[in-house]
Parts: sequence; structure tokens; C-alpha cells
Amino acid sequence: MDVFAAYRFCPICGATRPESDSSRPFRCQACSYTCFFGPVTAVGGVITNSSGEVLLIERAKDPGKGKLGMPGGFVDPNESAEVALRREILEEVGLQVGRLEFLMTAPNSYFYQGVLSPVLDIFFCATIESDQLVAAEATEVSAWMWTHPNEDTLGRMAFESNRLALERFLKTR
Ligand SMILES: [Zn+2]
Repeated sequence: MDVFAAYRFCPICGATRPESDSSRPFRCQACSYTCFFGPVTAVGGVITNSSGEVLLIERAKDPGKGKLGMPGGFVDPNESAEVALRREILEEVGLQVGRLEFLMTAPNSYFYQGVLSPVLDIFFCATIESDQLVAAEATEVSAWMWTHPNEDTLGRMAFESNRLALERFLKTR
């Protein structure tokens, strides 16, 4: 279900939203509260080592369980995209990356408990000197690999946006 359709009541005054009301943004007919349901922001990192290999993770959870992705996640309130990405990389694979270089953005969506929400993914590139991964968060990541991505790798990506970012990276380096 689209997140626009998921709101049957106004979150401020509790008024029931008429079945016929499919307006975007959501605008309460009783109190005029408006919710734009803008995309939430997520970040992803194309991390390379000194051999030019890219760090990919195997996702431990749905969506995309068992498929490949890159370290990253949702941006928290009051975080910049860069701070969020550094935090996620440290949490997921125990790496502290140096300078982040902007790569691209791409629309994505997130399906959770029956509700489909829009997401905007922001991708950065980063390099690390060491190939050593010191930790990994087992709840998010089931495996990781350093690889020179090929067609097979691209076909195993969990999200189209991640595949596009990896393709862009491979074309521009
Ligand atoms: Zn209301």
C-alpha cells in the first residue's frame, strides 16, 4: 500500500479521512493539517580499497535479504548526509572512511509492513587504505566482499538505485 493511502486518520486531530480523498499532499478536511509525505533520505557508499576493489555487503534482512548492497542507511534527524553515511559505514562494517566524494542521487522506495514509502538515495564514494574490516553488524549484514563488480554482481543488487550508482561509479573511474 502506498504511504499516501495508508493514512486513514489525521495524526493531529484524529478526523477520519474520507475514502474518496486521495489528495496529495494529505490535507485534513477538519483541521487543515498537511503532510507532504516527501521522500525520506538515505545514503549509500561506494567504498574502494587500494586495489580498486569495491566493498559490497550481503543483506541480512528484508527488503532484499540475501542480495547485495552497499553500506548505508537512513539519515537521522539533524544529521547531514555525510555524517549519516560515516555513522552507517562504521556501524555496518566497522570502517572509518576518509573524504567523501559525491557520486549521484536516485529515487528509491522502502516497503515495510505493507506500506510503500518514497526514498531519495544519496551516494558518495570513499576510499580506505586498509583492506581490514574490523567489525560487522550481524543484524544488518550477513557477509561482505571486496570485488571488482561485473554484470553478475550488478544483477544481484537488492535495489535498482544501488545498481545505478555502482554502474555510474564504474563508468566514471
Ligand atoms: Zn486534522
